[in-house]
Amino acid sequence: MNYISTRNASLKVSGAEAIVGGIAPDGGLYVPETMPEVTEKEREALIDMDYPERASFIIGKFLPELKDELLSMCEKAYSRFDGDPAPLVKIEDNFYLLELWHGPTHAFKDMALTLLPYLLTGSKRVLGRMDRTLILVATSGDTGKAALEGFKDVEGTDCIVFYPSGGVSELQQLQMQTQKGGNVFVSAIEGNFDDAQTAVKNIFTDDGIRDKLASFGYNLSSANSINWGRLVPQIAYYFSAYADLVSGGEIEDGDKVAFSVPTGNFGNILACYYAMKMGLPVERLVCASNSNNVLTDLFDTGIYDVRREFYKTISPSMDILVSSNFERLLFEISGRDDKLTARRMEELKANGKYVVSDRELSELSQIFFADYSSDEATKETIADFFEDTGYILDPHSAVAVSAADAYVGDEEIPIVTVCTASPFKFVGSVLEAIGTGVPKSAIKALEKLEDETALPLPDSLKELETLERRFTGVVGKDGIADVVINYAKERA
Ligand SMILES: *Cc1c(COP(=O)(O)O)cnc(C)c1O
Repeated sequence: MNYISTRNASLKVSGAEAIVGGIAPDGGLYVPETMPEVTEKEREALIDMDYPERASFIIGKFLPELKDELLSMCEKAYSRFDGDPAPLVKIEDNFYLLELWHGPTHAFKDMALTLLPYLLTGSKRVLGRMDRTLILVATSGDTGKAALEGFKDVEGTDCIVFYPSGGVSELQQLQMQTQKGGNVFVSAIEGNFDDAQTAVKNIFTDDGIRDKLASFGYNLSSANSINWGRLVPQIAYYFSAYADLVSGGEIEDGDKVAFSVPTGNFGNILACYYAMKMGLPVERLVCASNSNNVLTDLFDTGIYDVRREFYKTISPSMDILVSSNFERLLFEISGRDDKLTARRMEELKANGKYVVSDRELSELSQIFFADYSSDEATKETIADFFEDTGYILDPHSAVAVSAADAYVGDEEIPIVTVCTASPFKFVGSVLEAIGTGVPKSAIKALEKLEDETALPLPDSLKELETLERRFTGVVGKDGIADVVINYAKERA
C-alpha cells in the first residue's frame, strides 16, 4: 500500500517510510493512495474481538508490511492501560461516552502514542534503517507527555518536546518536567502552541538542519498527528465503539451513529472521517471547539481565517488556530487535488486565510456539524452533567458533550461523545466548575476531586509532587533549532 503527499500526489512512499519520515519532504502530509474498506462481514467479526485484536485488524489494512507483528505490538501497547482501553459508557438511550483516557498519561493521546514506538521500530526494521530516530514534538500539553512515556528508553530513539510556556495546565507541566528516561528532553518555549508547531515544522523542512543531524547519526520523525502512525491507531477506536454498540444491543449492525469529538489539531475527528470512508456507518461528525473556533467558522462560512485573537482556555489541548490535519480533509474534499491543496497551504502561510468552494462547503456540511463552547458554557456543562448524571467530565470532553447536545437537538440518532482526558488532569477547572473551592496545591486539589466524586485518583498523578523536576528551561522561538542540534551533538 502506497502513501502520497497532500501537496504532490506523485510523491509515493510505503507505509513504513511514511511513519519513519513523519512529514513529506514538500511539507505535505502523507495519506493512503486508496482507502481500504472494512466489509460488513469484517465489521461483524470485530464484535467478538478484544481491543488489541480490533486495533491490529484495522491498522493491518494500512500497514500490511507489519501485519505479522501487529497483534503482539497492540497487545504490548494496550497492556499499559488500566482495563479496557476504550470503554463505552451509556448515559441514557442514544447518548454514550467513549472514554479514551485510561492510558498511562490519562489523555487520549495514549491510544496512539503507546503504539507508535512499536510501529516506528518495526518500520525501521522493515526498511533496514540503522540510524537513530529523533522524535520532535510540539505539544499543547497532552501529546508531549504521552510521547515521552511512549518513547522513554526505547532503543534507537530519542524524544524532544516543546510546549508553550504558561500555555499548559499545572499538572501537564509537572508531568513533562518530571519525565524519566535517558533519551528524552523537554523545554518550554516563549510563544503559544501554534508558534511551537510552526517552529518544529520548519525544522522538518530545513535541509541544512537535517543534514547536520544526519552527520550526528540522527534522522528526524514526528509524534504529532501529522505522522500517519499517530492517526491510524485512532481509526480503530471508532470501529471498536461501533462494535460495542452492536454487541450491547444498543443498535443493529448497519444503523448510523454520530460522533462528537473535541477538536484541536483535527487528528481525532479526522480518524473518524477515515473510519466512515472505510465503511463505518457514520451519520454525522460533530466538530466541537472552544473559543478558538476557527473550525466552527470554517464550517459556517467556508473561510479558514487564523487572523484572530488566540485564547488561553480551560481546555488547553484544543487551544489551536492552525489545525494541521485539516489539510488532509481539504485534500479529500477537493477531490484529492494536490495542486490546489498546496496552493491553499501557501495562502494560509502567507495571508493567514483561504476559502473553500461552495461545492466543498456543501459537502462538508453534509458530513460535519460544528459548534463551540466558551469557558463559561463549558463549566456549566461540567456542573449540569455532574448534577444530572453523577458523571464528571473534563473540560475537553465537556466541550464535546455540549456540541453533541446542540446536534441532538436536531435529530434523534445515537450519538457517541469522545472523552479525551481524565478529569483529574484538569482538576482546577473541574473543581471550579462544580463549585467547590480549589486548593492551591495541585496535589491537594486532586485529593479533593477524589473526595467529591469517588473516582479513583491515579497514582502516577498523585506522586508527581515528589518527583525531581528535571526539565525547567525555557527557550525563545528562534532557539529551538539550536536545542535540537546540541542535543544530537552531545549524544553523537
Ligand atoms: C489533543 C487533545 C484534543 C484535540 O485532539 P486533536 O486530535 O488535536 O483534534 C482534545 N482533548 C484532549 C484532552 C487532547 O489531549
